[in-house]
Amino acid sequence: MDADLQTQLRFHLTGNNAGGGLDTTDGLALRPALLAGYRDLRPLRYDFPLLLVTDRPDASFAQPLSNLMDGLIAKLAHGADAARIHQHLLQLEQAIRTQVATGASGLLSARWDQAAAALGQGDPLLTESLSRARANLKVDGDLVDCQATLPAALIGHAWKQTQARRAAQFGQNIRRLVLKLSDILKADFANSDAGNSAENLKSSFGCGPGDSFDFEAMSRILTHSKPNKALSSGRRDRVTQLLATLQSQQFFATPDAVATTTYAFAFDSCSAALQAWRERLPRLIALARAVTVAELEIKGEYNATKHDPLFASFGENGLETRDLALFPDYLVRLNAGDLSGPEQATLTEILSADLPFKVLVQTDDVIEASPVGNGHLAFALRSRQLASMAMGLSGVFVLQSPASNLYQLRAALQRGLDFVGPALLSVFSGAVPSMGGLPAYLVGAAALESRVFPAFCFDPSAGADWASRFSLASNPQPTLDWPLHALAYEDAHCQAQSQQMPFTLLDFVACDTRYARHFARVPQAHWSDSLADAASFVAQPDHAQHHSVPSLLMVDPDNRLQKLIVDAKLIREARRCRSMWHSLQELGGIHNSHAERLMAQERKLWAQATPPAGVAAPVAATASATVVLLAASNDTAVAPPQTERSPDEAYIETSRCSTCNECTQINSKMFAYDDNRQAYIADINAGSYAQLVEAAENCQVSIIHPGKPRNPNEPGLDELQKRAELFA
Ligand code: SF4
Repeated sequence: MDADLQTQLRFHLTGNNAGGGLDTTDGLALRPALLAGYRDLRPLRYDFPLLLVTDRPDASFAQPLSNLMDGLIAKLAHGADAARIHQHLLQLEQAIRTQVATGASGLLSARWDQAAAALGQGDPLLTESLSRARANLKVDGDLVDCQATLPAALIGHAWKQTQARRAAQFGQNIRRLVLKLSDILKADFANSDAGNSAENLKSSFGCGPGDSFDFEAMSRILTHSKPNKALSSGRRDRVTQLLATLQSQQFFATPDAVATTTYAFAFDSCSAALQAWRERLPRLIALARAVTVAELEIKGEYNATKHDPLFASFGENGLETRDLALFPDYLVRLNAGDLSGPEQATLTEILSADLPFKVLVQTDDVIEASPVGNGHLAFALRSRQLASMAMGLSGVFVLQSPASNLYQLRAALQRGLDFVGPALLSVFSGAVPSMGGLPAYLVGAAALESRVFPAFCFDPSAGADWASRFSLASNPQPTLDWPLHALAYEDAHCQAQSQQMPFTLLDFVACDTRYARHFARVPQAHWSDSLADAASFVAQPDHAQHHSVPSLLMVDPDNRLQKLIVDAKLIREARRCRSMWHSLQELGGIHNSHAERLMAQERKLWAQATPPAGVAAPVAATASATVVLLAASNDTAVAPPQTERSPDEAYIETSRCSTCNECTQINSKMFAYDDNRQAYIADINAGSYAQLVEAAENCQVSIIHPGKPRNPNEPGLDELQKRAELFA
C-alpha cells in the first residue's frame, strides 16, 4: 500500500490527520461542486421574494415576484417597444430582489417606487417603461424573502386568509339567522296588544297623515279581529335568548357583532393556546347550539318536548367536526429549539385530541449532536420524531418541508389549513449561521436534495390508505437514493468534462463549518484512483475497504475543483440517512419491499411453471393473476428456446428491462444499455457482488439475477447471498 493511500485511509478510519499530508478544510470556504453556479442568487429568477397577496378569487395567498413580472411583460411588451420593456422590467425585478435580499421589507409598491427611482435616473426610456408597468400594477402586499422569518410570516398570512374566508361565511350565516329570528319576534309583537296600541300604530306611521288619522279606532279594530297566534312565552324566551347569544359572539368580527372585542387565535405556545381553548369552550358550545336551534326555530321545527332534553346535553361529548368547522382554527407558531418537555407534551395532547389547531414547528438547525453523545450526529431528529408521532395518531394532517420549497407546496399547505382537525406543519427555515454564508434558500434546497429534510405530506382526508394519504412527490427524483445533477467542468488539460453527480448528506454537511473535522482536503498532486466517489461508497455495506477512500468534489471561491476525504463516522451517518429515506420511500410506495418481495416470489413461481423449450404452457400451471399477466405479456403460447444457464451465473432478462436507470446508476460500468436501451451486464468484474445484489433489489421488474459471488473474499457474503436468494 502506498504512503498516500495509507495517510488517506488513516484519516478516513480514525479522523486523525496528525501525520500531515492532508489539509484541514477550515477557512477554505469550500462548497459542494454542484453549488458552484449559485454564488449569487440575485440575478436568478426563482420563487423568491414572494408577494403575500389577499382577496384573490382563486384563494391563493402568495405569488413569486418573477411570476408577477412575467404577467406584466406579457401584457405590456408588444410591438416595437417589446424588447425594451421586457428588459427594463427584468432590471426592476432584479433591483427589487436585491433590496429584499439585503434586508428591505414592506409593501411591493414601496420597494417598486424606490427601485424604479434609482434605476430611472438619467434614463427617460427606462422611466417610461417602468411608469407604464406601474400604472398596470393592480396588486400590492408585503414582499418576503426566504429567511428565518419566512415560515411564520407565510403560514401566518395563509392562515389569516383562510380565517377571513371562514369569517365572511360565518358572518353571512349569523346575519341571516339574526334577521329571521328578529322577524319572528317582530311578527309576534305586531300581533300583540302592545303592537296594536294606538300609540304604537301612530309611531309606526311616522310623519305624514298621522294627525288626521284615527289610530284609536284602528287599534280597536285590530285588537278585536286579530287571530290568536301569539308566541308561547317559552318560545319567545328561547328566540330572545338565541338572538342574544348570536349577537354577542366573540369568535369572529362580523359587521353586526355587539361585542366590541373578538378573541385572538394566534399563539406562540401550545399551553397558552390550549388554555384559551378550554376557557372559551363553554361559549363555543353555546354558540354552536344556538346556530343549530336557530335553524330549527326558523323552519318552525323546534319541538320543545323533543328537543329540549337533546340540546340540554349538547356538546357534552365534544362537538362534531361539522360544528367545529364553523369556527376559527387556532394557529400556534413554535420554534423546535424552544420546545421544552411540558410544551411538547401539550403539543401531543392537542394533536391527539383532534382539536382544530394548526401548529407550525420551525426548525433552524437540522444537524445537531445526538443526545446519545459519543460525537454522533442527529439529523432533523426532533422534526422526524414529531412528524412520526403525528402520523401515528392517524387523524393529524402533517406537512414537512424546507421553507425554500413552501411555495411549491402551497396547495398542500392550503389543504392543511382547511383540514377539519389538527395539522402539524414542520418547516426547516434554512437560516443556519454556520453554513458558510449560503443563503437560507440554498441551505433549504440543499437539505431537501440531500434527503436531510425531505418534504412530505400526510393528508388523512385524502383516503383510507397510505397510498392515498402519503406523498413524497415534491422531493427531487424521489425514486433515487440521492438526486443526480450534471456537473460540467474543465479538467487539468483544459478539456470540457461533464458527469452526473448525486447530491448527498455528505455534501450538505460539508457546507457546515462546525463539522469541518470530518473532512480533509487532498492536495491535487496526491489525487489518484484510490479517491472513490463517496456516494457509491455509502451505497456499499459497511465494511473496511483498504484499496480506496470516499471523496467529495468541492470548489473553492475561485471555482477550482478540490477533493475532500470523508471520515468513516460521516459515511455511517450518510448510510443511516439513506436508510431512513428508504423507509420514507416505502411509505410513499417507492421500492416497497412487500410489493417487491411478492413480485420476486411470483416471478419465481412463473419461472417454475414455464415448461421446457418447445412445450406449450398449460394455463392451469399459472399460479396467480400476476403470473397470467406476465405470461400474457410474452405474447406467445410457446416458451422461446432458452440458453442453458448455470445457476451460479449473473444475468439480466434484458428483453423485460423497463430502462428505469436504477442499475446503471449503481454502477455504469457493470450495467449498460444495449441498442434498444435495455440493460445487460456489460462487465461483471467492474463492481462488487454487493452492487449486483443492490441492483437486483432496486430493479423495479425484478429481472436482475445476481448468481453466486465471484470473489470469495468479498466481505459480508453470507448476508448478501441470503438477499440474493430472492432473485435466484
Ligand atoms: S434496474 Fe432493471 S429495469 Fe431498471 S434498467 Fe436495470 S435492469 Fe432495467
